[in-house]
Amino acid sequence: MPSDPLPPLRSVIADHGLSARKSLGQNFLLDLNLTAKIARSAGDLTQCDVLEIGPGPGGLTRGLLSEGARHVLAIEKDSRCLPALAEIAATWPGRLTVIEGDALKVNPLDHLTPPIRIAANLPYNVGTELLVRWLTPPDWPPFWQSLTLMFQREVAERIVAAPGSKAYGRLALLAQWRCDARIVMSLPPQAFTPPPKVSSAVVHLTALPEPRFPADAKTLERVVAMAFNQRRKMMRAALKGLTPDIEDKLRAAGIAPTDRAETVDLERFCALARLIKT
Ligand code: SAM
Repeated sequence: MPSDPLPPLRSVIADHGLSARKSLGQNFLLDLNLTAKIARSAGDLTQCDVLEIGPGPGGLTRGLLSEGARHVLAIEKDSRCLPALAEIAATWPGRLTVIEGDALKVNPLDHLTPPIRIAANLPYNVGTELLVRWLTPPDWPPFWQSLTLMFQREVAERIVAAPGSKAYGRLALLAQWRCDARIVMSLPPQAFTPPPKVSSAVVHLTALPEPRFPADAKTLERVVAMAFNQRRKMMRAALKGLTPDIEDKLRAAGIAPTDRAETVDLERFCALARLIKT
């Protein structure tokens, strides 16, 4: 691995008084071998700008830079982390830009040059909200090529789930319609300081040039949301508010009106969305 001349993360945290705050979802990764491994799972970064959300003391940031990222734009809400991040920026001159702010409010696009990849170890609530935003842009392909994101293991499983499984639902359909999604790493709670209550996993999503099956994005999102809002119900009952002839439309899409949403695959959801649109 290319050398990283900065002090170990434990010293950085001690020197800058970065005691972890629960309110900011701070569970830090201190093992630079691990953060370099996560950076490698984001693919070849040498020709890419990387958007990192929530760098904290900079473990993953250092991984991304030492693995050769062309440029990293890091958005961090906690101003206490800025001096530690400034030391990283000074070590890799011109390759790290830090913005202090809330990733849910800052528009990073002014500071990024394509191709762009996204990598983050985020608080889980913010992570899911950002993921849904990144998966539902106004146009496709999106501004990013890939997302490499740490999630609670249970959320990671919902993103990659197959039909018929308990974890299958809106997140799986949203992600898999326009991306390849897979779990690339599993991490026990002890990998973090302080350790969270549950295990984590890194999910890597690659944007497909085109959706897997044609459908209008808004219609598909609406149909899927309604179907899984009442996942125990049969499709004809869950979707009866959509159109009076819902049973005919379901049959035309290859779905039995008595099927439950969790058994309906992406292709048939897209077929149904096309029929609802017309
Ligand atoms: N990336 C670091 C690591 O792997 O050790 C820190 C990860 S910690 C789970 C989450 C980080 O996100 C914290 O540094 C926290 O301050 C930051 N954060 C929390 N909410 C944020 C938000 N809305 N926008 C930007 N950063 C946020």
